[in-house]
Amino acid sequence: MIPQSFIQDLLTRVDIVDVVGRQVKLRKGGANWMGLCPFHGEKSPSFTVSPTKQFYHCFGCGVHGTAIDFLMSYSGYGFVDAVRELAQELGLSVPSEAGVRDPAAEASRARAPDLIETLQKAAKFYSARLRDAPQAITYLKNRGVSGATAARFRLGYAPGGWRALEGAFADYGDDSLVEGGLVIASDAPAEGQPARRYDRFRDRVMFPIRNPRGQVIGFGGRVVGQGEPKYLNSPETPLFSKGRSLYGLYEARDAIRQHNAVVVVEGYMDVVMLAQNGVENAVATLGTATTADHVRLLARLVDRITFSFDGDKAGRKAAWRALEASLPHATDTRRIDFLFLPPEHDPDSFVRAHGHEGWRAALAEATPLSEFVLRELSSRGDLQTSEGRAQLQSQAREVLMALPDAALRQQLLARIAALVGLDVDALRSFYGIGAATVSREPRVPRVVMARRPPTVRAAERAFALAARHPALVHELPVDPTRGAPVAELGVAWVPPGRLAQGDEMAVDELPREVLDWIERLRTLPAGASFASVQTLLAQDSAALAVLQADELKPWAGLTLEEARGEFHRALAEVVLARLQDELAQIAASDPTRSGALDRYQALQRRMLALKSAYGRVRR
Ligand SMILES: [Zn+2]
Repeated sequence: MIPQSFIQDLLTRVDIVDVVGRQVKLRKGGANWMGLCPFHGEKSPSFTVSPTKQFYHCFGCGVHGTAIDFLMSYSGYGFVDAVRELAQELGLSVPSEAGVRDPAAEASRARAPDLIETLQKAAKFYSARLRDAPQAITYLKNRGVSGATAARFRLGYAPGGWRALEGAFADYGDDSLVEGGLVIASDAPAEGQPARRYDRFRDRVMFPIRNPRGQVIGFGGRVVGQGEPKYLNSPETPLFSKGRSLYGLYEARDAIRQHNAVVVVEGYMDVVMLAQNGVENAVATLGTATTADHVRLLARLVDRITFSFDGDKAGRKAAWRALEASLPHATDTRRIDFLFLPPEHDPDSFVRAHGHEGWRAALAEATPLSEFVLRELSSRGDLQTSEGRAQLQSQAREVLMALPDAALRQQLLARIAALVGLDVDALRSFYGIGAATVSREPRVPRVVMARRPPTVRAAERAFALAARHPALVHELPVDPTRGAPVAELGVAWVPPGRLAQGDEMAVDELPREVLDWIERLRTLPAGASFASVQTLLAQDSAALAVLQADELKPWAGLTLEEARGEFHRALAEVVLARLQDELAQIAASDPTRSGALDRYQALQRRMLALKSAYGRVRR
């Protein structure tokens, strides 16, 4: 866990106006800065950033928070990553409270700001060299790249020769050039002689790879003339890891948010040409198979991920690896598809031949994850024979076990059962998957469970806010139906305006755990101080631990009004989690049971209403 003192220190050093200002155009309005809210569509600015309070707040949709919150909400970082990101920029290394220190990691974190500067300088140099490199310009023109596109992606050119970067860096011997992956230092030719150094990228069109903040962290280089390898990437450095980075993510981010969808392709040129043709939400893996880290990063940003691969054998293999990385993220509300283009095309040539409309049409026909699984597995053996069916049955196990225990898994199970000619129950017991593996929530006598998951659960966030502002629980309707199942939807409570009429949240949608502490806090008057809340909870060490959680401390200073929005959002997340569980339960039990389908659809609609009212909510 990151020490609270460090987070405070970080928040005092960072300037939120600077952090937000990189993403949102801000202008001064009185003591604050104003801009168009990036979290809801608006035409006149209601989004303010306070340099004195170091908070942002939107009067339109109620979002607010610290610089850390902003990075989490806007860039999709987790808490720890957001802290690291800010720390890295300030040249601080993140200490760990457990006292376990990793000197190597700390040293490389401390180097990171220097390396960023080095890489920025190199990017600038490469970009300037492009102008006087006719062969590189011809290459880009032949590929159809416009000047505007080249500028948007900051394309550049690494000159031929061995030490062109001497033109950009006064000290070519500086270690940061090697550490940043720009220069290769080979072993010394003989004892006592200096190591030989030379540029890694020579005579290549350069594609800068940027982190989510727009800083260059690495490069991809495409050879201009003949030469091997055709594509060359930066090596692993303290800043860059190809298993975690995606080319074009920075440039694509606005479009990705806008469409709530992303397309993953294989090449830089695919990303660049898709963007030039109006498909701006594409990113590329960097000469590596899609990793679980890639998918996790994207799954935090969007509900729909489409992988586009060549239709040949290599493409199918790459797609299968992407599928394996995606399985844990294939929840019922997220759509993961595979787009296989005709063999003569890659995304670059396809979009140039068929345009933006043609691409959209192809995308709409993409193969859903479950179809791809079935098609691929059935193509591997002869399903006319028992051996072929047995092979499919056993290969499908891995896929099923990696999927979340929800409706999609049950659907796939039924399809596989049909393919191998077994009934669903027999197949289920073969795989060891229970019919209804989601157990009902056990009674939780305490306010929170003693063991907390690494991120702060919504129920705990709501609790922490209510503990600072007991007025919040007094605003809820009296005498909630305690412990009722998620049943009668729509017993109105709050918040007005946010949810359409009939879609309001109901107290009886909340789990017992939450109803318990609501009731306890209600024994205090609405204006009760935090000290009296702590006295009330003196015997409940688990509850007190939640109130001390580092992650929640930045919230301690929220006003009642600020806390209210966050409180309702957290409760919405609690309700969503329950809806998700009930959906899984229905899917796992007999879906043909009378009324099950209707209930299933009602729950889906409910989730959509909550999600659209509260935006993408964390779980
Ligand atoms: Zn807003």
